[in-house]
Amino acid sequence: MSETRRARPKGTQDFLPPDSARLQHVENLFRHLAERYGYQAIVTPTFEHTEVFVKSSGEGSDIVTKEMYSFKDRGDRDLTLRPEGTPGVVRAVLENRLRLPCRLYYVGPFFRYCRPQKGRFREFYQVGVEALGEASPLVDAEIICFGDDFFQSLGITDCTTRVNSIGCRECRPAHRESLRKFLLERKERLCADCQARLERNPLRVFDCKVETCRLTVQDAPVPRQYLCKACERHHDQVLSALSRRGLLHEANDRLVRGLDYYNRTTFEYVSASLGAQDSLGGGGRYDYLVGDFGGPDTPAVGLAIGLERTMLAAPALPEPQRRHLAFVVWLTPAELRAAEDVADRLRAAGVPAQIDYDSAKVKGQFKSADATRAACCVVIGPDELAKGVYSLKDLVTGEQREIPSDTVTEEVRALFRD
Ligand code: AMP
Repeated sequence: MSETRRARPKGTQDFLPPDSARLQHVENLFRHLAERYGYQAIVTPTFEHTEVFVKSSGEGSDIVTKEMYSFKDRGDRDLTLRPEGTPGVVRAVLENRLRLPCRLYYVGPFFRYCRPQKGRFREFYQVGVEALGEASPLVDAEIICFGDDFFQSLGITDCTTRVNSIGCRECRPAHRESLRKFLLERKERLCADCQARLERNPLRVFDCKVETCRLTVQDAPVPRQYLCKACERHHDQVLSALSRRGLLHEANDRLVRGLDYYNRTTFEYVSASLGAQDSLGGGGRYDYLVGDFGGPDTPAVGLAIGLERTMLAAPALPEPQRRHLAFVVWLTPAELRAAEDVADRLRAAGVPAQIDYDSAKVKGQFKSADATRAACCVVIGPDELAKGVYSLKDLVTGEQREIPSDTVTEEVRALFRD
């Protein structure tokens, strides 16, 4: 057998039990929190027409120039596995004429062709929220608090929230020009990528991780110095709302984020425990994107969080000793029907139940129960059936006792509570 058939593609992961349960736990926590803030779920395709991303993330962005999984399908269409969530959501909102304003959240896999390392994958999971049609700076602040709320609920305490404003179409050109001039004078110090970025999007140089570029932009003009009155007011209101809500944050003049569609507020959460890939998530305002898609002018703000990094930063949850699962054991084939009935009764009452149909011997079934880490076994034999009882074995203590057959659901539930 070829080696590639046995190995997952580079940069991807298998989430195996019990860790897969941890991923689900974090996802569910996010869903509940998003619903609590008034967001509703949206599920969009994992691939879109390539144009959806090129036109929004920006033709000069790292995502579009280096990281997209793009392909032609058999019908010669240009398609791309989604590298991020916002463009697909905006496309879906417009195509389906959703009523605005609307608050949406998503959970799912995303794809970027990048160099895999700790916390960085080619397929990764993101959760995100998008508030479309809301202009108030208080919404920016609420979304920033929402992200913090999510991290707090997972016990992530070393998270720093950085906030900035990159201005709007009115004030950005002046900053861009002065930044371009500044960088042109120091062109030879910039990496080849940044030299190419200089004309197209000099702001991106702030994102560059190359040491000489980082040193060069340290004294560069920053967007905040050029904010127009309206942007300055918006930013002040975001910051004071964050302070009012008790959220510690760091004003960071150089936080521009790597996507073209942001304006005004940009923000990011970083964790000191993560190493080089320290960004847990981030987002910003994108008041022009819906209009750029051909829709009505619609202010909007959103946030995306990476689940792998979130799980790396979160303290491990205590492992439950046993799963909330009842294993139904049958002694002879004559009790198999009764075992099926019991398992179905338990499931209908919301109690997880499983049967090993293949092991004819009781010992084999107990072994299976142990391997699944079930909390208990409900044992059904001919004597039990004749008496209208089952045996309930607690797999944590090893204790076994008879219970009336019609109380099985309550008895198993009581055992889960211990
Ligand atoms: P971005 O869409 O680039 O703003 O990313 C938002 C968040 O998604 C980041 O802060 C990371 O937590 C996560 N993320 C982005 N790219 C990757 C990747 N290649 N692997 C793992 N997580 C990622």
